[in-house]
Amino acid sequence: MSDQAIPMAPRKRIALVAHDNRKQTLLEWAKFNRVLLAGHELFATGTTGALLERELEMPVARLQSGPLGGDLQIGAKIAEGAVDFMIFFWDPLEPQPHDPDVKALLRIAVVWNIPVACNRASADFMISSPLMDEEYDRLVPDYAPYRRRTLPSPEA
Ligand code: PGA
Repeated sequence: MSDQAIPMAPRKRIALVAHDNRKQTLLEWAKFNRVLLAGHELFATGTTGALLERELEMPVARLQSGPLGGDLQIGAKIAEGAVDFMIFFWDPLEPQPHDPDVKALLRIAVVWNIPVACNRASADFMISSPLMDEEYDRLVPDYAPYRRRTLPSPEA
């Protein structure tokens, strides 16, 4: 499979999600990086988005709350090519009612080669990358052979 280059503009479309026990960390991180984040377009699950808007005093497009489908909405945006970059502070110590959605979101981010930071140190490295302000070609595997795959023929 050859890779396909999908360009990311310098102004990135960033999705932010944090589970309840990780929201404070995300808010602190976002506040610290407010000036950098201001140069990009922000999306978030419902509650995370409301907290970020209040903390940063900048617009954040808010989707459903995570357990009500917000994680899946972000996953759908990734599949449509509408998200460039994700900050997802999931809670490693508490089971979530929407664990299958969390897994689906992490999976689809890998399918489309979306940069994902799941903790504060990774988010620091990502946000301070010189690539944040440049155009970047995200290489995605060519899924055409998968789409053309031969299916087992129905039993006679
Ligand atoms: P929330 O959702 O921002 O609406 O709390 C986050 C999540 O639990 O996925």
